[in-house]
Amino acid sequence: MNAEKPLAPIPFGKPMLDSSEIEAAARVLSGTTLVHGPATHEFEEQFARRVGAAEAISVSSCTAGLHLSLFVHGVGPGDRVAVPAMTHVATAHVVELCGATPVFIDVERDTGNMDAAALDAVSAGLRAVEVVHYLGLPCDMDRISAIAAKTGAFVVEDCALSLGATYGGRHTGNFGVTGNFSFYPVKHMTTIEGGMVTANDPAVAAKIRQTKAFGYDRTIAQRTRPGIYDVVALGFNYRMNEVEAAVGLAQLGKLDNFAAKRAANYAALKKALSDVDEVTVFESEKGKARSSHYCLNAILPADGHIDRDALVKHLNAAGIGTSVHYPAAVPLFTYYREKYGYRPGQFPVAEWLADQTISLPVGPHLAEGDALRIAAAVKSGVRAAKR
Ligand SMILES: *Cc1c(COP(=O)(O)O)cnc(C)c1O
Repeated sequence: MNAEKPLAPIPFGKPMLDSSEIEAAARVLSGTTLVHGPATHEFEEQFARRVGAAEAISVSSCTAGLHLSLFVHGVGPGDRVAVPAMTHVATAHVVELCGATPVFIDVERDTGNMDAAALDAVSAGLRAVEVVHYLGLPCDMDRISAIAAKTGAFVVEDCALSLGATYGGRHTGNFGVTGNFSFYPVKHMTTIEGGMVTANDPAVAAKIRQTKAFGYDRTIAQRTRPGIYDVVALGFNYRMNEVEAAVGLAQLGKLDNFAAKRAANYAALKKALSDVDEVTVFESEKGKARSSHYCLNAILPADGHIDRDALVKHLNAAGIGTSVHYPAAVPLFTYYREKYGYRPGQFPVAEWLADQTISLPVGPHLAEGDALRIAAAVKSGVRAAKR
């Protein structure tokens, strides 16, 4: 009767959904308003308040928000847009989708964020700068904003992993013309798929609202002429629906609790890893930046004497989910390599991060004691993965 029960697996990320999201979704589905309704409106209002932005515009994904942010500023062929070499490919793809050219910037060794000095070196003539708060730690926004201002470029923030992160006490998403958040299932909160654009300039917000919905002009007196509208601009269908917004509202109510658990799990895991000599970790604070603790990035020695893939296999076999952020420096993905001729060695820090780091879970799904279990598995795994 005492047979050892295998320990429950710890996934890298897990959406935290319960009866509140299920009931919220059911309420929408049993009504008649599936789009353009009160849940979307309320979700936008609450989210704007949460991050301290003048406006928040719900969209179908963070990628859609980033695309809109460049598109409404007229970014197009001939424009150059700075993108960190280490990010989700979405950050670069939206530049390509506008017909513009990404200018990849290597990242800092101690944070994984865009290197301001490297940006400065190529900043002349840039149309825009897309910053990514890597794994939730805000970029050096003072320096990056100053460089962008000097060269006349506007800044767009990719906040997909920075919900809850602040710089100088101000929430990310308030430093560029827009902030773009993701509600993909394993992010800080979820709407299944979905995203939010924050903006402090009402003209930018209005343009994003219009462009996410076909370029409709909503100022027409619809009450007097129902169903009649004009189309004044080119646009997409990048809207969020009412079910997603209702789920988002329920999640928003849990966000403080999620954030506290992430911070506690991060601290516990960092402490437990402190006696594993082979592993270092990124700090969750630097200068004015405070992280949203998306995950804990375990950094292996640069000399490569620990086989990263063997360590990942060891952890996965022990039931511990891991991730890699990201599997390659973006310019070295086949699409970019073939289009622009990038070669290994051009973005050394981004390439090192792609090869020598493992993202460990710190999400609110972790149970008591899980941080110690993860650290113990890293300790034994590092021994097993020595070459
Ligand atoms: C997840 C992620 C995205 C894409 O978000 P979607 O909502 O899936 O479009 C973009 N950038 C970064 C940094 C991400 O982590």
